[in-house]
Amino acid sequence: MLILTCPHCGVTAEETELAPGGEAHLKRFGPGSSDAEFEGYLFARENPRGVHFERWRHAYGCGKWFIAARCTATLQVFGTYTSQVAAPPQQVRDAITAARPGWRWREFA
Ligand SMILES: [Zn+2]
Repeated sequence: MLILTCPHCGVTAEETELAPGGEAHLKRFGPGSSDAEFEGYLFARENPRGVHFERWRHAYGCGKWFIAARCTATLQVFGTYTSQVAAPPQQVRDAITAARPGWRWREFA
């Protein structure tokens, strides 16, 4: 079972107390963008085997959104942080790099 700590209220909760919100750190495209860019924003998702960034909402707690960095293969959680940031905090990146040498944060296009 996936267990995450909400960065807003500090409660450690099982996934049944949380609501998934899909991939995090998507670059948004709206009016004025090309059809391909808008289609990619709406439908294209990474779905990797390994390190992944996901949006979660503490649905049965404080109700706020946050982002979890975890491994989709092992359920190892590298950290959680508020969703008001454009990229993972350095401490989360360091935790991922320590567990997965060679891993790199990529700028989402
Ligand atoms: Zn919370």
